[in-house]
Amino acid sequence: MVERPFIYRFSTDLRLDDHAGLAAAASRGGVLPTIVIDDTLASRLKASPRRAAFFCSAVSALAAELREMGSRLVVRRGPPGKIIPEIARAAGAAGAAWSASYHAQGMDDDRRLQSELEETGLAAVVVHDAPAIPPEESAAARGTGAGYRAFAPYFERWWKLAVASYENPLLLRFITSEAGGEALPQAEEFGSHEDGMAASSAAARVLLERFLAERAAQYGAAATIPSENGTSQLSAHISFGMISARTIARRVRERLGDPFALGEERASLRLFLRALARRDFFLQLSWFFPGATERPLQEKMQGFALAQDHPALDAWRAGKTGYPLVDAGIRQLRQTGWMHPHVRAVAASLLCFDLSVDWRVGRDEWNRWLVEDDPAVATGNWQWIAGVGADMAQFPRIYNPQRQRRRYDPDGTYARRWIPELRHIPREAWHGRSDDSPQLSLALFDRDAYPHPVVDHAVAARAFLARYRGFVSP
Ligand SMILES: Cc1cc2nc3c(=O)[nH]c(=O)nc-3n(C[C@H](O)[C@H](O)[C@H](O)COP(=O)(O)OP(=O)(O)OC[C@H]3O[C@@H](n4cnc5c(N)ncnc54)[C@H](O)[C@@H]3O)c2cc1C
Repeated sequence: MVERPFIYRFSTDLRLDDHAGLAAAASRGGVLPTIVIDDTLASRLKASPRRAAFFCSAVSALAAELREMGSRLVVRRGPPGKIIPEIARAAGAAGAAWSASYHAQGMDDDRRLQSELEETGLAAVVVHDAPAIPPEESAAARGTGAGYRAFAPYFERWWKLAVASYENPLLLRFITSEAGGEALPQAEEFGSHEDGMAASSAAARVLLERFLAERAAQYGAAATIPSENGTSQLSAHISFGMISARTIARRVRERLGDPFALGEERASLRLFLRALARRDFFLQLSWFFPGATERPLQEKMQGFALAQDHPALDAWRAGKTGYPLVDAGIRQLRQTGWMHPHVRAVAASLLCFDLSVDWRVGRDEWNRWLVEDDPAVATGNWQWIAGVGADMAQFPRIYNPQRQRRRYDPDGTYARRWIPELRHIPREAWHGRSDDSPQLSLALFDRDAYPHPVVDHAVAARAFLARYRGFVSP
């Protein structure tokens, strides 16, 4: 019997190694690599110029790798339900595989495509590739088959589960067909004029190995200090699947298995795995509770009124709130497409509590700037910060932006790096002082170049808590 090829459709899984989706396709036939840019993917790329440039660079690197292996990435644009059957007909393929989406729109698209292909007699195989541990696996291990709504028990389970490996699947063989293809995607077609965003799976591997060699052992101490670059900065690479979460989890677990690893390194590696598990947690949350994409996961918070606007909203968007830690973070985001994780929490807290603005406004604003493309992770984090999602404590955690700056950026290194108006203030003036201390506040605001705080944090936080308390226990 002549073997029929099987299509693999890449999307946000732009690599060839440790790939659950490719392994699934390879077990069914020679793999015909394709990428179909549909409306959902195009609109996420159009949302953020840096994201579009990063994606296009990664696709071009993937195409080059495939060329080296004697194959060719078939690129098409349009509805996959129409295009994949066309490619399958031209190549005589038996079906298509792709990796599952975890955000509501992507999950709907996946279901639709699956039935469209099956209706035309093609096999459709959707595989969990993005998380280290697939949602059904953590749910099955729990015994109930239901998803987790709280992170702590999730992590306890996740920690003990084995991480699969799809390195070098025995049957992986790429083929080339005569199926017509189009030009590789270019950032300009998504309205982006960014250049210099080099991305590839090889670069993501290098980033991981450098992080493990140079910074992972101090992650526990450095991860919350934004001036230190103590985190891995792998999130964009992970979100486009240029490195698999499984590869990262396995490499870190290997390090943990080293009997000579010191206590501090072990604690750091465990914390890093906890961060990675948080991503899996939010993916499974969206998988099992897709209705929570636009509505709070906590049903009882669904009627809680949130403003869509605030007189200081534009200042928050621009990084001109008068709170240096928040402003530095937002300017870092606007200039680079990434913001330090701890600063994200403080900046999001200011929007959700001090300004009492809807978390969706913040999420959608950052979506315009971030390179990362992980909508389920964005929603999960924003709901978590806003106190309407997973792990809801009795009262939301409201960060004091001045205290946070004093603690995590004590000599203003991070603030000065991203806020040119504050560069003239020497380190000694910041050290150990809160932004509202008489000595520092004089320096911060004396030239009128930097704004006074747009809200009084203590007053705004108290007002929010009173409203919150009135809502949850009237
Ligand atoms: C308000 C808010 C919004 C966020 N929006 C996004 C978003 O749109 N897209 C996105 O990918 N991440 C988002 N995050 C999570 C996290 O801040 C980013 O993934 C960040 O870029 C991680 O930086 P890193 O790779 O250096 O992290 P590291 O500390 O090195 O962590 C390693 C990996 O673990 C995962 N991770 C770490 N922290 C989290 C977390 N809180 N939630 C989920 N996964 C995590 C990431 O994949 C990360 O690359 C958000 C966090 C907050 C508080």
